[in-house]
Amino acid sequence: MLNLFSWVTLVIEKYQVGDSYVWIPVAKETKGNGVRAFLPFNGLDGTYLHGYKARISESKYLDALSDIQRAYIENENEVFSVNKGAKDERQYKAKWRHGREQNAPLLGPTKGWVKVKLNRIQYLKDSELGMALDKSSDRYCQVEDFTFKPVLCNSAEELIEKAENLKEKIGDRIPDGQRVPNKCTTSQEAFIRDAAVVAYVLGVANGSCECCGEKSPFIKFNGESYLEVHHVRHLAKGGSDTISNAIAICPNCHRELHFGIDSNLLVEKLYLKVDRLIRE
Ligand SMILES: [Zn+2]
Ligand SMILES: [Zn+2]
Repeated sequence: MLNLFSWVTLVIEKYQVGDSYVWIPVAKETKGNGVRAFLPFNGLDGTYLHGYKARISESKYLDALSDIQRAYIENENEVFSVNKGAKDERQYKAKWRHGREQNAPLLGPTKGWVKVKLNRIQYLKDSELGMALDKSSDRYCQVEDFTFKPVLCNSAEELIEKAENLKEKIGDRIPDGQRVPNKCTTSQEAFIRDAAVVAYVLGVANGSCECCGEKSPFIKFNGESYLEVHHVRHLAKGGSDTISNAIAICPNCHRELHFGIDSNLLVEKLYLKVDRLIRE
């Protein structure tokens, strides 16, 4: 059965103030260039060159967009005399210059149109609109949610670093994620540590964090208090695995010592507070 509604409703409409969806024209890939869509590449308040090849206008993004839409809907065209009057050429108005310069490539909706949420257009990429049209195998399609492809990382450090840099890129796209994540074998170097140091330090702490002094946050399956052992001078920085460099602390303090903006201050506090510690 044909689902008539799915295409009957897809009619290009001109943007009007207050609309929450807009139709974006998309130009086919050309030599050396991928798909290019009329997205706010100079910002929403920036100006855009659009109109006829021979008679270009300049307007703010949404005004330019609605002019391109109107010209397309009305199939607006005009005959211009080109080549210094040598010949006449019929030109269509639904065009834009893809860049700020007069000689930037002149593009039109040769690939199609994609209807998207207005509040997303700043986060969209030309290629995403192109892919949406390829998938729909139509010249018009609507996309509700643009997703974000997985950025796979093999280590916790890489994960934190990449996530930091991705925050802005993602905008309000929704990550695809992974249903079944793959495993990898890493050949990370690890220190061979002394369990006696851990046992001793945990014994001295006796269930309270040696950093903030609070009681351990929870009791383990075996009935003992949960605390983590941390090396004040990190092993990776040449610190020793001894009781004069190890402390038993709560997970919050531990994280703060590794990632906190004031971790250096915290280390100084520890040297004052815990007598057995020796600066290394
Ligand atoms: Zn603590
Ligand atoms: Zn640690």
